[in-house]
Amino acid sequence: MALTLPSRQGAQYLETDVVLVGAGIMSATLALLLSELDPGLKTLVIERRPGPAEESSNPWNNAGTGHAGLCELNYSIEQPDGSVDISKAVKINEQFQVTRQLWAYLIEQGILKDPKAFINPTPHLTFVTGADHVAYMRARWEAMQGNVLFDSMRYSENQSEIAEWSPLLIEGRDPAELVGCSYDATGTDVDFGALTKEYLRITTSRGGEVAYNFEVSDIKPAGAAWLIKGDHTGGGHGIVVKAKKVFIGAGGYALHLLQRAGVPEANGYGLFPISGQFLTTSKRSVVSRHDTKVYGKASVGAPPMSVPHLDARIIAGDKYVLFGPFAGSSPKFLKHGSLFDLPLSLRPHNILPMLEVAKDNLPLVKYLAGQILLPPNKQLEALQQFYPEADLADWTMVQAGQRAQIIKKDEHGHGTLQFGTELVVGAGGTISGLLGASPGASTAAPIMLGLLEKCFPERLDAWRPLLTKIVPTWGKNLVDDPALAASTRTRTAEALGITPPQSR
Ligand SMILES: Cc1cc2nc3c(=O)[nH]c(=O)nc-3n(C[C@H](O)[C@H](O)[C@H](O)COP(=O)(O)OP(=O)(O)OC[C@H]3O[C@@H](n4cnc5c(N)ncnc54)[C@H](O)[C@@H]3O)c2cc1C
Repeated sequence: MALTLPSRQGAQYLETDVVLVGAGIMSATLALLLSELDPGLKTLVIERRPGPAEESSNPWNNAGTGHAGLCELNYSIEQPDGSVDISKAVKINEQFQVTRQLWAYLIEQGILKDPKAFINPTPHLTFVTGADHVAYMRARWEAMQGNVLFDSMRYSENQSEIAEWSPLLIEGRDPAELVGCSYDATGTDVDFGALTKEYLRITTSRGGEVAYNFEVSDIKPAGAAWLIKGDHTGGGHGIVVKAKKVFIGAGGYALHLLQRAGVPEANGYGLFPISGQFLTTSKRSVVSRHDTKVYGKASVGAPPMSVPHLDARIIAGDKYVLFGPFAGSSPKFLKHGSLFDLPLSLRPHNILPMLEVAKDNLPLVKYLAGQILLPPNKQLEALQQFYPEADLADWTMVQAGQRAQIIKKDEHGHGTLQFGTELVVGAGGTISGLLGASPGASTAAPIMLGLLEKCFPERLDAWRPLLTKIVPTWGKNLVDDPALAASTRTRTAEALGITPPQSR
């Protein structure tokens, strides 16, 4: 079905090579890569908000963790025999090494000026209490020992040693309490909002275009191209853009747009929204004594990526400590979305999988409902598990970003809830969209390299020399090549001013 051009006088008709919907970290990464690979390629980012990074990529809407599998226990899975499978942690780490190489290249080339504006060294810790959790931590530590990607990690069950790594965890704690803690100095805190803005500034300085305050409401094929309709959010004249390729980096709204575009590959998907809140403080006595990110273990039913953690953050150059996110339930797919997002996303092909997910995940639904109603004393209790001497009077609650987790049919046609990210590609690679939220912004570079392979196969051979200069390990597994892993991590750490690998 062809999109009819608006008959309203003054509606603007534009032509470009690539339209990117949404001005978050994903579109910004792709726009920047395209401008680097082919300065002649015309790109247009269309964003419904007045500026970039106002949804999940905003530093106040995410936790800013440079996810590398160093501290997030949902990537180290306990097996029935008590051993721990770290293959997910290895994969996340490999992906983050790709992201670090892109950033290092941009700094080394002078394209990005100041790494401190978006990345800062921040040790990653995992901290647990109680005999069962400590036993699991020990098994995880054993599984990670000897793996080159985790060779900087240390482990302790000694409160005095842990206090040296992160004093707030131990002060005021019962000295007899059993604790287990891993510590990796190579961890990072990332301001993905600052990075998004910088990427788009660079792209526009090279001729790329960005249209703010336009909401893409329809996408339809037009011969070998696509017509993208953008409505002005202030009621002004709209735009219709003809583009050879479209990338939908619209966060929680990507599925809806893939469905509008009639991409059959998007059929059967549904979304499960999870909202969040952070407790935050800038109190000097707290901020000056906490410079680590500390993750814990999920309680029963908790969505794995929403287990609160105690994070040192640097946002726009200022130091904060954030604790969260506390997960919650809201039918919106974006923070600035609508209460009708969830009901309007229902289609005949996804209603059943979505109902199955609700039925199969009752502990999660119960957990989310409980979290919204969590009284302040329970929030304090959660915070004090990490920071026993915390005083709620020092903390303020802020709304975090909205996650839209993927619901997908499994091989038996049964709906399952996924916690990863998925690139949906249709129409021979001319249209694509990104679904899901985890591990998220940290993996923007490898996801966009994967997109280039799927959506620009005709250009890949010409781009390969520059791509391998940008990411020298592209297509290789560092874990299989310890010398390459060490040299890559050291080089990127030097370029980015973060902590290089350290022998224990
Ligand atoms: C609470 C929370 C904590 C997180 N913590 C981390 C973390 O510690 N580390 C990490 O790496 N990742 C984290 N993430 C995930 C990460 O934030 C996201 O994966 C990432 O920001 C997604 O980027 P994006 O560009 O796809 O989406 P977004 O940043 O959400 O951008 C999408 C953009 O599309 C625009 N848009 C939507 N619909 C339309 C339309 N129809 N027309 C025009 N524009 C449209 C939106 O306004 C928005 O600007 C977290 C996320 C949340 C919510």
